[in-house]
Amino acid sequence: MDDNKLILDGLAVANGIKEKLVHRVQLLVEKRVMPCLVTILVGDDPSSETYVRMKGNACKRLGIDSRRIHLSKDTTTEGLVTVIRQLNADPDVHGILLQHPVPHQINEREAFDAISIDKDVDGVTTLGFAQNAVGFANYPSCTPEAIMNILDYYRIPIEGKHVVVIGRSPILGKPVSLMLLNRNATVTICHSKTTELHRMVKLGDIVVAAVGKPRFVQGDWIKRGAVVIDAGYNSGNIGDVDYKACLTNASAITPVPAGVGPVTIAVLLKHTVDAAEKALKS
Ligand code: NAP
Repeated sequence: MDDNKLILDGLAVANGIKEKLVHRVQLLVEKRVMPCLVTILVGDDPSSETYVRMKGNACKRLGIDSRRIHLSKDTTTEGLVTVIRQLNADPDVHGILLQHPVPHQINEREAFDAISIDKDVDGVTTLGFAQNAVGFANYPSCTPEAIMNILDYYRIPIEGKHVVVIGRSPILGKPVSLMLLNRNATVTICHSKTTELHRMVKLGDIVVAAVGKPRFVQGDWIKRGAVVIDAGYNSGNIGDVDYKACLTNASAITPVPAGVGPVTIAVLLKHTVDAAEKALKS
């Protein structure tokens, strides 16, 4: 492999975030506050079950209480919202994470927006999104914040750079685009109706792939010297970027696994600790 290529190590970034949390968790526990994240899983999607388990294990390793609520796949929007409201009212719960996607009969937006802004540690509410857009969210979406953390950890300049984001979902593509814009990047957002996508991607000094399609971004789409951030996570531990092919032109790239994924979990833990500290002060 070319020694000049920088592999952006998500585990190193995640460890840096988690190390700073150890002492903060200890201080909270001394004050008899156990930071607590509740994850809600609706239905039996095996990938979602894996993600929820991974998040729960990460909490345990750091001494954060993690509770899991598993609802049946025929849960209604009303039923889910009732559970969320109970958690909003529970002073021992600091963060609420609704694992998505939820089954099709549920109005996902209504369910997300039922989460109290103070406990929206996954940054999924409309209010949280709006706060992020204007640049002062307490808890931005975790994956977008993870991407920013990776860029900052490796001191990759953002200001004045042209960033091409592929994907415009409300939890990933849109919020990361706004965060990059707020840091003075020039941002192009691409989606499924974008024409000549490969030409757009070729303009990017930084390319963020958030598509949900395995190995979608091709090597010859990448401008020589560009930084490639692969937010994708598809079954079989495969990203949205053809890693080997993109490595040819990229100057830096995140691998999958051990790229954006572990940093996303570390950001979630940080948000939960932030929320517990805020609850203690209020
Ligand atoms: P999503 O809601 O399905 O959104 C996918 C986006 O990709 C949409 O905006 C879609 O465009 C766009 N798209 C689909 N096909 C396209 C094409 N042919 N050309 C250009 N754009 C296309 O997915 P998501 O939740 O944002 O997740 C994206 C990826 O990130 C997935 O691989 C997911 O597993 C991963 N992810 C990782 C983490 C992590 O912790 N690492 C967390 C969350 C998500 P339209 O809007 O036009 O449909």
